[in-house]
Amino acid sequence: MGWTVKPVAGWYFPMAKFLSLLVALMVVSCASLRQPLGLSEAELLRKAKAAHERVIVLDTHSDISPRNFTVEQNYGQRLDTQVNLPKMFEGGLDAVFFSVFVGQTRETQSADAFKPSGYERAYKAAIEKFDAIHRLTDKLAPDKIEIALTSADVRRLKASGKKVALIGVENGYPMGEDLGRVREFYQRGARYMSLAHNGHSQLSDSHAGERDGWKWNGLSPLGRQVIAEMNRVGLMVDVSHPSKASMMQSVALSKAPIIASHSAMRALCDMSRNMDDEQLLALKKSGGVVQVVAYSSFIKTPKPDSNERKAALGALRNEFKIADATPAEQSAPSGVVSAAALARLAPERRADYLRRVTEIGEQYPGDLPAPVLYFVDHIDNAVKLIGLDHVGIASDFEGGGWVIGWSDASETLNVTLELVRRGYIEEQIGKLWGGNLLRVMDEVQRIAFALQSAN
Ligand SMILES: [Zn+2]
Repeated sequence: MGWTVKPVAGWYFPMAKFLSLLVALMVVSCASLRQPLGLSEAELLRKAKAAHERVIVLDTHSDISPRNFTVEQNYGQRLDTQVNLPKMFEGGLDAVFFSVFVGQTRETQSADAFKPSGYERAYKAAIEKFDAIHRLTDKLAPDKIEIALTSADVRRLKASGKKVALIGVENGYPMGEDLGRVREFYQRGARYMSLAHNGHSQLSDSHAGERDGWKWNGLSPLGRQVIAEMNRVGLMVDVSHPSKASMMQSVALSKAPIIASHSAMRALCDMSRNMDDEQLLALKKSGGVVQVVAYSSFIKTPKPDSNERKAALGALRNEFKIADATPAEQSAPSGVVSAAALARLAPERRADYLRRVTEIGEQYPGDLPAPVLYFVDHIDNAVKLIGLDHVGIASDFEGGGWVIGWSDASETLNVTLELVRRGYIEEQIGKLWGGNLLRVMDEVQRIAFALQSAN
C-alpha cells in the first residue's frame, strides 16, 4: 500500500525512513544474535513458513470490544482491528485468548467502587464480553472459529483448519466478593484470571502500587481464598498485572503452576508491569510459563518527547477532547493514544485526528516503537534465565501491541521468522508458540480434578 506502512493505532511511517531505521537496528542487533544457520533469507523464510504451519500458533492476550461482535460488524470481516479472522488466516495465527477485561474503578472515581452496586456494574461488563466471544463462535462465524476448553480442543481445531478462541479474565474485580463466580467464569469458558489490573482490586495489589502506594501488601484475605478456589476449579492464576508481592504470594500459595499471560523482562526494560529475575525464577519453580508480551513500551523504554512535540500533541488532544487517557493508555509509545481512546471518536474525527498526528510527527518526530528484533530479545532473555519450557508469546493486540513487524495478526509469521533466524528449531518454536502454555493448562486442570476428587 503506497509508501506508508499501514497505520498502527495512530502511527504512520514513511517507508524510506522506516527501512533505514530497520537496517540500522539490524546492524546493531545482529552482533548479539545467535547466527548459527548461515542460510539465505529465502531459505530462512521457507523454514519459518514450514514450522509456522505445523506448530500451534497461540497468542495468550488480545483485548476485545463488544461492538466488534455484532451481526453488522464482526471478526468475520476484515475490520480495522489488529485481530480478526481474515488477519488470523493471513498471518497463520491459530489460537487467541480473548480477554474479558474490566478496568479497575477506583473509589475516587466512584464511591461505590467496592460496594455491591459497583461490583454489579463490573460483572455486567464482564458478562457482555463473555457473551460477545460466544456469539462469535456460536452465531457469527461458527464455520471458521470455535471455543476451546482443553488442549485437546485446541489440537482438534488446528487439525480441522478452524481458528481457536480461548478466554482469559483480566482483573478479578467483576467477581466482587462472590467466590461462586470463580466457578461461573470457568463454566463460561475462562481458563485464566488475573486478580488485579492497573489499580488495586478487592483481591490484590496492582503493579501500579509502585507509583501509587499499596493497599494490601500483596494479596487480600479474599484474594488468598480466590487462589485456592481457582486451583480447585481449574482456572490458571495469571500474575501479569498484580504487584510483585502479590505475584510471589500467589506462587507460594497456589497448588498449581502460575502463568504471566502478557509480561516482558524487567532486566531489559525497567517497568513495573514487567517481571524481574526473582519473579521469573519463582514462576519457573511453580512449573508455569511467562508469555512474553509484544507491547512496545514494555519492550524498550520510550524516549521522552521533545517539548515541542509534547506541546503540539497536548494541544491536539485538548482540541479533540481525548486528553483524559488512562495510565495504561499513557504508557503507549509516545504521542499515541490507545485504540480504545481513538474508538471514542466518530470515524471522520478519528481520521482527522490521525492525519494531524502524522503531520506533527513529520514536524517533531517522536521515538519509534520497538521492532520484532527487540521483542525476540526478551524471549531470548527469558529462555536463557528460566529455560525454553517456561516461555511463551502474547501480543496484547487491541490493548496495545505497537511492535514494528508484529503490528497485527496478519504479521504473525515475522515472529517465527526471527526465531528461526536465531537458530530455534521447530520443536522449540512449537513450545514457545503454545506448547508450553497448553502443558500448563492441562496440568492446572489435572490438579483441579485431583483436588475435587480428594474432597
Ligand atoms: Zn493487560
